[in-house]
Amino acid sequence: MNDRHVLIVGGGIAGSCLAQGLRRTGLAVTLFERDPSAAHRPQGYRISLKDTGVRALRACLPDHLFDLAVATSIRPATRMIFMDAGLRPKFAKDLPEQRPGVDGLGVNRLTLREILMAEPAVPVRFGMDYQRYERLDGGRVRAHFADGHHVDGDLLVGAEGVGSRMRAQLLPGAAVDELGWTLYGRTWITPALLAATPPELTDSFNRVTAPDGTAIGIATCRPLTPVPEAVARHAPGAHLTDVPGYFSWTMSGSGLRPDGVPPAGLHRLAMDTVRDWHEGVRRIVREADPEATFVLQVHSARRVEPWDEPAVTLVGDAVHSMSPGRGEGANVGLRDAHLLSELLAAAEGQPLAGAKAAYERRMLDYAFTAVDASRDHPFAPFRRPAG
Ligand SMILES: Cc1cc2nc3c(=O)[nH]c(=O)nc-3n(C[C@H](O)[C@H](O)[C@H](O)COP(=O)(O)OP(=O)(O)OC[C@H]3O[C@@H](n4cnc5c(N)ncnc54)[C@H](O)[C@@H]3O)c2cc1C
Repeated sequence: MNDRHVLIVGGGIAGSCLAQGLRRTGLAVTLFERDPSAAHRPQGYRISLKDTGVRALRACLPDHLFDLAVATSIRPATRMIFMDAGLRPKFAKDLPEQRPGVDGLGVNRLTLREILMAEPAVPVRFGMDYQRYERLDGGRVRAHFADGHHVDGDLLVGAEGVGSRMRAQLLPGAAVDELGWTLYGRTWITPALLAATPPELTDSFNRVTAPDGTAIGIATCRPLTPVPEAVARHAPGAHLTDVPGYFSWTMSGSGLRPDGVPPAGLHRLAMDTVRDWHEGVRRIVREADPEATFVLQVHSARRVEPWDEPAVTLVGDAVHSMSPGRGEGANVGLRDAHLLSELLAAAEGQPLAGAKAAYERRMLDYAFTAVDASRDHPFAPFRRPAG
């Protein structure tokens, strides 16, 4: 039964972690990714992993790659602080000391993806744009790609994120709500900028809100160890992009309407939005890399019922996209990868359909609990404008 083949479509956080997790199962696994490489396209900047996400990474990655993820992780925030646009605090508290790699991990998204794909545990086929699946006799499944190729397998896993074609075919009634827009930017940290930045905005989990509800959160993203040094220590030969320190900022609120603004106008929109705010905020936005400013629609999936397709399943945002209000999406996607890989490993000679169904029962429960909590989170910044 060891010649069974698992096909994973989508090499984002959930799909790549699943591929790593399946490396000890004896199953043949292939990962198909539409992008031409792991470093392609803007993907966002900082991601906070909680203990669930850290546990999944620790279980799925080989030890040296997990150590590399910890070494390249972002220095934890020491303070939580909410302020008005003049940086007058409305709420502040010290945060408990975080032990990176134990109870949390702040990661640079590109670095995490490159680590998940460093020394790939399984063959990765880039540039493969998945289109649809077809049920085959004998319980197998065929995946079709845009270039006309098709590949047969015993289990097909959709990890293509919120725009999942696999979900659309498997669950045609599954609805995903659009909650609103957010604008993202990155500003490289220079000694002069750091010296000029008010301490409230440095190494803190912060949120600055104007009277009309428009808000910005600014995360200080400096690696514990510089990337090249961490690579040399933990995984010589791995190719990771060197990402020095930066501020990542997220702007949202019903006053912000970036839809229809061309990419070249987004940085100007961000500067205009904060033009009357404290100079500390204005400077970070002003000195941002205009080409690294981009906009994303925030989605929240509606609950789905278990499905009756024995050889097809979904992980991550493909099934349970959620508002980033609580920083749960990647954590839950990593948990999916961890759970599914453990259940498939335990299936040994048994049919994969049983393990897959057990995964879906548990995943749908915990994932949609997180979707609901994220949507209702009081600090969820992504409310659809009224009317
Ligand atoms: C601004 C922002 C901040 C966030 N912060 C956090 C946080 O702090 N903590 C947290 O837990 N979560 C956070 N999230 C959520 C998190 O980013 C997502 O939940 C996570 O990226 C989902 O991973 P995924 O692998 O399911 O999907 P994705 O990361 O979207 O990956 C999907 C992959 O599938 C590929 N693909 C798509 N279509 C095809 C196709 N047809 N054929 C082949 N490949 C395809 C894509 O190229 C991509 O590589 C945040 C989200 C945003 C937007």
